[in-house]
Amino acid sequence: MENKNKIFSIVLVLAMVIGTVALSGCTQETKNKIIVGTSADFPPFEYKATNQTIIGFDIDLIKKILTDQGYTVEVQDIGFDSLIPSLQTGKIDVIAAAMTIDDERMLQVDFSNPYYDSNQTVLVKVGAGVNITTIEDLKNYTVGAQTGTTGWDWVNDTLVATGKLNSDNFRSYDLYTDAVADLIIGPSRVGAVVIDSPVAQAFAKSGDVRIVLNITTNESYGFAVEKGNTELLTKINTGLSAVKATTYWEDLIEQYFAT
Ligand code: GLN
Repeated sequence: MENKNKIFSIVLVLAMVIGTVALSGCTQETKNKIIVGTSADFPPFEYKATNQTIIGFDIDLIKKILTDQGYTVEVQDIGFDSLIPSLQTGKIDVIAAAMTIDDERMLQVDFSNPYYDSNQTVLVKVGAGVNITTIEDLKNYTVGAQTGTTGWDWVNDTLVATGKLNSDNFRSYDLYTDAVADLIIGPSRVGAVVIDSPVAQAFAKSGDVRIVLNITTNESYGFAVEKGNTELLTKINTGLSAVKATTYWEDLIEQYFAT
């Protein structure tokens, strides 16, 4: 009996030693690994290739910046509205999601230097008889946008809060790809989608949808890190300037934005 106990103790101690070694191995690895969170519904910045891998301008850019500095990068697809909470709870280290730098978000996260400029646009289905030439015309349709975005804020603040659009006619989507899919089904689902201009242009390439209005909002995208993570932020900013000074930057623009 005593012997059995001894053997049991030895096995237990061995298991603990092995466990500790294995765990420290993990922490060692995670220190060099950066988890990038995105919302892969926003071409050409982040979207799924036919084989389901996440690609896009933001993804290539942040991967280039971080791998050049010795990190390995893992990309996780998270709903846009959950990106900031995921950063705050340490589930991800960086947000790369065409996220507009704005005052409200700056209270919650730290942004890199801006890397791309954008405005908002109104997207409609081609041939659906949707007649929108001014902002006021939007009242005649159901208007869609992705929850948590600056496009959603614009519809809410400029149309719904001012009484120009009945709140019943404002449809919120978790994913912009779903909003555009509904747009293509037809105005019975959604008549117009308010969305960032470069992304509207990407969706319009299919020929199913087109831009009927431009809304000047003067937005700039930045990568976001947890508040106070200056070490990572400095690395991202340094890497961003370095990449911009090379032909990699022009090639990336050409690859994702050439018409
Ligand atoms: N630029 C917009 C924002 O920051 C939309 C981003 C997105 O949907 N990925 O709210």
